[in-house]
Amino acid sequence: MDFRGLHGSSLTEGGSTISRFTRRSTKRALLTIAAEYAIITGAIAIAAAVPDIGWPVKALAILVIGTRQYALGEALLHEASHWHLSNSKSVNNLLGAILAWPVFTSLAAYRRFHNRLHHGLDIADLENSIWEDYEDWGLPAPSRTLGLARAFWLLVLRPAIGLTGIMHLFKTVRDFRYDFDLWETRLMLTAWAVVIAGAAYFSLWRELILYWLIPYTFIFWTLNYWSEVGDHFRVSGAKTRSDLNWFVNTFISHNIGYHALHHKYSSIPWFHLPEAYRAHKVELVEQVSRGYWETFAQIVAYTPHEERLEMQMPALGKSEAEVVP
Ligand SMILES: [Zn+2]
Repeated sequence: MDFRGLHGSSLTEGGSTISRFTRRSTKRALLTIAAEYAIITGAIAIAAAVPDIGWPVKALAILVIGTRQYALGEALLHEASHWHLSNSKSVNNLLGAILAWPVFTSLAAYRRFHNRLHHGLDIADLENSIWEDYEDWGLPAPSRTLGLARAFWLLVLRPAIGLTGIMHLFKTVRDFRYDFDLWETRLMLTAWAVVIAGAAYFSLWRELILYWLIPYTFIFWTLNYWSEVGDHFRVSGAKTRSDLNWFVNTFISHNIGYHALHHKYSSIPWFHLPEAYRAHKVELVEQVSRGYWETFAQIVAYTPHEERLEMQMPALGKSEAEVVP
């Protein structure tokens, strides 16, 4: 039974084992979002209270804020895109917008690419948006060799020093044009114009850059990149990789690492994934990693053979993913 979860209508489909795991909780979603924002507020308050020589505290605050931005603006926004935050669609969509706007996107923009162009198509399909992402990031097709030094640069060093984040910043701005047909994106941009004007008026622009834009560029996008690369890039013996690192799934990514399970049963909210994984592990075709270093080692060790090549990454032309309405 393949749960797409595209319209939130698959909740009652399937056997009782799966529907047990598809129960949503508005209370849980609200508490999780509130806790994340409390951590961000605390980090900013502590960092702002220390004098300028307290740069290690500020650096730590940037790291904490960036991980929370990832938890909110990617992990939980992803949940919202699958209608997992509440049984009420309007509550889910309101929370989704609250999660999306601070990271310069809209729920509608996220949803149309993620749900249809990632879940709606087979991973092997040329039109699946993941291939366009990999191409945009300069990742070589599996038919090409990927030596250790180049892999280290592309997958570890380049994102770690923030270059990938800067690339993403340009892409984010470019995407405004593609998503401008969505009223929610237009509203989000208007809200940001007000925030920026307000920050300038109240002389808070330095804080806005230090405690929001810097973590967004250098932490949020780096974590996002590592997660996306891990999901489907050069996976051996399967189309999808699951990263079951306990620390990351528990404290940073709200179980986003259970990716093969999510592809098979996309109606399962984040807080049920570990338990559902134990129950349905046997059904999954996946490559399992226990952290990004193991993912990196798996990518380096990947040796494509003829029939797998087409499945993993069809010859890439310019994908039309960005212009599909
Ligand atoms: Zn998804």
